Amino acid sequence: MDFYQGKVLKIDLSAGTAIVEPLNMEWAELYIGGKGLMLRYLWELTEPGLDPWSPDNPFIVATGPFAGTNVSTCSRVVIGGKSPASGTMLDSYMGGSFGSILKFAGYDMVIVQGLAPQLSTILIKDDVVTLAPCPAYTGMKTSEIEAALRADFDAKMTAISIGPAGESKLPWACISNDQYHKAGRGGTGALLGSKNVKAIAVAGTGKVTVGDAKAFLDDIERMDADYILTDDNYWVHEEGTPILVGITSGAGCQPVRNFSEGTNPDVENIDSEAFQKIRVKKRACYQCTLACRNFHRVEGAEGEGPEYETIALCGANVGVGDIDALMKFNIECDEWGLDTISTGNVLGLAMDMTEKGIHDFGVRFGDLDAYLKVPEQLATRSGIGAELAMGAKALAEKHGCPELAMHSKNLEMPGYDPRGSFGMSIAYASSDRGGCHMRSFPIGVEVVEGSMPADTLDSSKVVWNIDFQNHYAFKFCGIWCDFWAIDYDQMTQLMKHLWKRDVTEDELKVVGERVWNLGRLYNLREGTEKKDDFVPKAMLEKPFTTGVSAGKVIGSERFAKVMDEYYATRGWDENAVPTEDKLRQLGIDVRL
Ligand code: SF4
Repeated sequence: MDFYQGKVLKIDLSAGTAIVEPLNMEWAELYIGGKGLMLRYLWELTEPGLDPWSPDNPFIVATGPFAGTNVSTCSRVVIGGKSPASGTMLDSYMGGSFGSILKFAGYDMVIVQGLAPQLSTILIKDDVVTLAPCPAYTGMKTSEIEAALRADFDAKMTAISIGPAGESKLPWACISNDQYHKAGRGGTGALLGSKNVKAIAVAGTGKVTVGDAKAFLDDIERMDADYILTDDNYWVHEEGTPILVGITSGAGCQPVRNFSEGTNPDVENIDSEAFQKIRVKKRACYQCTLACRNFHRVEGAEGEGPEYETIALCGANVGVGDIDALMKFNIECDEWGLDTISTGNVLGLAMDMTEKGIHDFGVRFGDLDAYLKVPEQLATRSGIGAELAMGAKALAEKHGCPELAMHSKNLEMPGYDPRGSFGMSIAYASSDRGGCHMRSFPIGVEVVEGSMPADTLDSSKVVWNIDFQNHYAFKFCGIWCDFWAIDYDQMTQLMKHLWKRDVTEDELKVVGERVWNLGRLYNLREGTEKKDDFVPKAMLEKPFTTGVSAGKVIGSERFAKVMDEYYATRGWDENAVPTEDKLRQLGIDVRL
């Protein structure tokens, strides 16, 4: 079978079994791979209303069809299941090498269900699959566990693993691969930890077949030259995501001190230029020609990152403009296995509550000593970490200040405040996994390009968000990296090799829309309602006082109006449920 290996590895930890099933090729035709295929399997594998902490909640690792080939950026995987953080569908993406090596071992997907009797590691070496108890790995940080697996299992293996945060089931614990690549959002690490699994290690000696290899390789080479290694893309390699630090602060949409302002007074200390001065090396994910990963060194610490989101949430949002402290905090989060977006949100909230006299957590904006202790405290649920582990929504509600929690569908917000980029309000509220910037990214046109005004919210923003969401839903089926701004035309050129026929852009658009609607159905089935499509009231009503976005408000009424337009434009009914006509038109084969 070209591109696909045609095999799904299913592991039942409770029964101690591993079986190989044929990949459902009907679904592969409809949903391609990655996000779409993961979602279709998720729908099938679980009963409605499943407790995300139940052993039945599947931990799914899905590749895209181009993993294991030399299509740039496609070694990525999606980690899926039902999110322990938000209760919505969970799809979180990660670079590194796991996707390619899993394909070389012979599998398109791995699905793990059940509960291991003690902390264990799943070892996959081609068709030999072992569940190995690993009490000695208890408490290991992410760099330690990978080194231990290389020594104990296979020097050439790669692994996805959790740090101590995953073992303690912190709702925003993440998954690591090759140490510095993270599936950060939605509690991927908590999900694996809840199954008593510390790591899944894989070593593979097989290959991926691609049909007409010469034609395929010629095309890849041409596409690399024409679309990837271009002057336009040079910023990805040269600066990476820190380029956004100066841009978002300048546009008044960077979260500052628990999202109370949008312009960072310390921006010059932690912007792209500041990080370039301490840069020591670069690296790339397997199979990637863009190579965006940056390593930095400060006294006493060297590591990859931080990326923009970490700088915004664990820097500006907690009042930290000290590059040394930020570097150390980022490394600690990586080692303990924490998503930095949720970490920075929850910590910013605790600081805000302390400053406002609501509750004294003993940590204030810019207090570096207390700040640097927090990653360990969260991961081990010790000190203030025991209470902060509740997450922003529950923490704020407990202390009677729900308005201070910056989340949507219980997932803490990324680093773009809608008060400086109005279109982000639609992006966040309609996101299928809660507060997330990876479903649509109006910042690109409202702030970076300036091709749409940042302070309007109307039908054009509705249509723009929907188009982007459908585009990304398809892109995440093939799992191209966000940093390749691949368009439909470029994707059709690759899909021709997969489908072995001419492919139109419209066909891909239908798949993207199908996947987006399937995600909506899943969330509705699990209890999400129209009222859950929200952004915090402060983002709609409370104007900033400084910077270019000062005084600008979206307004709750205008927001509600565009969300109704969003549902109607999507072909959903007045309760925000996809209509029967829409489901039939998209060829979706499941119903509520
Ligand atoms: S662009 Fe960066 S994150 Fe994306 S695949 Fe390449 S190295 Fe990995």
